[in-house]
This record gives sequence, structure tokens and C-alpha cells, in this order.
Amino acid sequence: MPQDVRQEQAMICVSVATGTKCLPHEKLGRAKGNVLHDWHAEILALRGLSRWLVDECMELAREGRDGRSEWVRWTNASVKATSEEDRRKRSGIAHEQGSPLQHSYRHNEIADNQAETPQTTPTTSPIQPFSLLPNTKIHLYISSAPCGDASMELTMRSQTDSTPWEAPPPSDTLPGRGNFDLLGVVRRKPARADAPMVWSKSCSDKIALRQCTGIVSGVVAHGEGGLVPPLYLDSLILPHAEIVPEAIERCFGFGPQGRMHVLQNRTWEAGYSVHPLRVEATSRIFEFDKPSSATDTAEKGGLGSSNLSLLATPTRQETLINGVLQGRKQSDIRGASCVSRRRLWEDVRAVRRSISTSSPDSVNEGRNSPLCEQTYEGMKTSLPFTARETVRREVWALALKGWRRNEGDEEWTL
Ligand SMILES: [Zn+2]
Repeated sequence: MPQDVRQEQAMICVSVATGTKCLPHEKLGRAKGNVLHDWHAEILALRGLSRWLVDECMELAREGRDGRSEWVRWTNASVKATSEEDRRKRSGIAHEQGSPLQHSYRHNEIADNQAETPQTTPTTSPIQPFSLLPNTKIHLYISSAPCGDASMELTMRSQTDSTPWEAPPPSDTLPGRGNFDLLGVVRRKPARADAPMVWSKSCSDKIALRQCTGIVSGVVAHGEGGLVPPLYLDSLILPHAEIVPEAIERCFGFGPQGRMHVLQNRTWEAGYSVHPLRVEATSRIFEFDKPSSATDTAEKGGLGSSNLSLLATPTRQETLINGVLQGRKQSDIRGASCVSRRRLWEDVRAVRRSISTSSPDSVNEGRNSPLCEQTYEGMKTSLPFTARETVRREVWALALKGWRRNEGDEEWTL
């Protein structure tokens, strides 16, 4: 939820989500960008933030340089087209019937005369066409501690016998919920022992990484091919009972006790730098939170977890099951969520191309442009992704050791 401190602490919720599942690794090859890999609530909510940003940028692109948004603005970066033919094609894409570019919603006029802040913009000249307005802060509220390292003590306490056991994890995978003797390590998503293997990393690990890479999906914030610069969380807000201070420091911290310590004050190219999370406690309890005790369970009528997942932004609402829209098969392209890899890449390209079309003095963007890439793999390995990839590799090598990529859903086209 971005917070604009210029307007008397104005705050809006741009993304809310529920969810507890992720995609088994064996299904990744058939996902084709349509199926979400991970819809744990906090990860889905962050994808919703990316979706909201893309929608804001779409609206600005539709309105042109004079357009105004409450939260997003044009930068001075110029976006370049490749040829007259490309411009014509791009114009068609940008204005096809039903294009999200035709969505319309109200914006307030805001004087845009404030300096850039290092929190939301790179220190060099902007290379993305849009950015959040200065002094906008992003907060994430989670009703339960994220799975993985930040919640290991809580998981231990919830066991009938909280004595740690020391069975070693299988040599070919990351530990899940078990192996309580291992603290500060990268874990995969917790799952039942008889469930298909998942390679998605725990929410704790993903949030820890995003203190360096930012929280916006790679396709939305990747160098010259994206729409906005890397954006970082200002704070993570949890209920009091979900915070174990030593776990939070160990999992996310850049101090002496934190596993991110070696990266303290690190900066990288293209606006990437370390943004330590501020973890805050709240006494307010989410009304529909999972039961915290037997008494609570009785009062709530024996609530259980649901296979359904909800995602909502100010302009979108989806009910998801198994990573796709409810009622659609995973193999059906019409089932792709608005936050799926496919839909985000599709719309980022549409915005970039519509901007190129409207820039008559633009020049060739180059063969490394993600606009030219045919496959998702090609886009992710293209030059604009280099800086982000460098950040990820360094964090994995130095702080989140053992991180294993969840690969298998890259060879597809739009
Ligand atoms: Zn999780």
C-alpha cells in the first residue's frame, strides 16, 4: 500500500490477497506463463502491486505526456521505437479492442515539482519511462509471519513436542517446514511430506531477497525494458504475536545477527541497492485471520484453509484456484491471472510499444530490447535484465546460500 506523505499521510491499499499454495515443480513445464508458481498471500499481494503499477502506467501512456496519476508519473526517459513498420504494428497492439490501455479511471491533478528520492528512483538518469511520485512509501501487512525462516520459532512452538529434531534434509533439495535445528537457512515452501515436490522458496526467503532486488516483478522493473525503477518495501507489518524478534533479525537483518549482514550498504548498477526492512508490530487483528487457539477455532466455527485464493487491486478482482482463474484449466490460456507472467509481460510490452509509437523522434532501441525477444527465456536473459540478475546471483552466493532456481517455465511466447 503506497503511502503519499505529501497529502496528510494519504494511504491506499493497492493490492490484497489470500492464498496458501504453490505449483509443484513437475507442473512448471506446462505452465507456459499462464499459471502462477506461488500464490502464498504475501507473494500474490506483491504481484498485485506490480499489476497495479502496470495499470497506472497504461493509463498514463494512454493519456500521453500530459496525463496525471495520483501515484505514478512520467520520467524524463525517452522510449525508442525500431522502425516505421514496428510503430504501425505497435499502434495496432496498443489500440486493439478490449486492450487494457482503454481502461479509464479518475486521476487527481498533482503538482509535480518535487525532487526525486533515492528510495524510489535510481541515482543515475532514469531509464524507465515511469516512476512512483516522490516520497511514496510502500508497506506490506501480513496477518501471519511469512513461512520459512522468520517463522521457525512459531512453527516449533505450535508442535506438540517442540524439541528440534535433527534429521538431515534430503541432499537434493532445500528443507521445508522441518529440520528445526537449521535456522537462518533458505527453505522451500512448506508442504505435506506426501505432496509433490515444490521448488518455490519460502516467503521469508523471497522477502529477504527483495530487500536487494526490489518488490516489483522483474518484467515490470527491468532496466530499459521495464516501466518503473526497482521499488522497495518501506515496512513489513505483522501482528504482535507473529513477531519473534531474533527470528526477524536473523532472517531479514543486515546487522551482526542477520544473514544479510555481508551485503550491508551494498549498491549495484541500475538503481539497485540494499533496503533493510523495517518490521513493525500491530495490535490490530485481521478479522478473518486463521484461528490462533482452540477457543478461537470454536468461536470461528472450525475454519480451515481454502484452495481458493483471492486477489484484488483498485480496478481488478480475481478468484484463483491452482494458480489460474477459477473455472479454467491450467492449460487454458484464458485462465491466466492478470498477475501471471504472460499477462504482465504482454501488458508491459503493450505500454512500451504504445509509448514508442507516440515518440516520432525516437531511434532504434537495439537488438537487445525485450520488445524484440520471442520467448520469455530470451527476455529474461536479455541485456536489460543483466543488472537484476547480478543482484540476485550475489545475494544467493553471499547471503541466501543454497537458493535453487525454480526453473522450467521459460520456453513460451506471447
Ligand atoms: Zn509463504
